[in-house]
Amino acid sequence: MPERIGIAYDIHRLVPGRPLLLGGVSIPHETGLLGHSDADIVLHALCGAILGALGEPDIGDLFSDRDPRWHNADSRQFVQEALRRMQTAGFSLGNVDLIIHAERPKLGPHKTTIRQAVAKLVGLPPERVGLKATTNEGLDAIGRGEAMACWASVLLIPNPSRA
Ligand code: MG
Repeated sequence: MPERIGIAYDIHRLVPGRPLLLGGVSIPHETGLLGHSDADIVLHALCGAILGALGEPDIGDLFSDRDPRWHNADSRQFVQEALRRMQTAGFSLGNVDLIIHAERPKLGPHKTTIRQAVAKLVGLPPERVGLKATTNEGLDAIGRGEAMACWASVLLIPNPSRA
């Protein structure tokens, strides 16, 4: 059974009066991500990449934004469900790579914390979780501070017993 690769993208609006959660870490900022769940773009992209690698339904199919169970839901549980499906399918997570697109706040001071939180959530050493943060150079909705987005890619490795 060969390795699997997965990729996913997520974007949410930034609005006043919402928390800003990135990788499960609360970041102080005057706006936060709007969504039915906690709108954590990092965890949504990560979850989507794992599900994609498995050929599973996407995050919107599994955790509908019309389902009251997921209202203000902690997105860590979405990732945990994706990991559960990964384990059932006979795979382990090889590595994770993430790119956050955000004009403000500057994420440099938070990158280590976010990376460690994601690593802990998925059970990987931090050196197997990559995290980049980039602005959109003032262009488009992200550049105007109206939204944030995240890309995630993952590699899934078949467990020896299933290889
Ligand atoms: Mg989302």
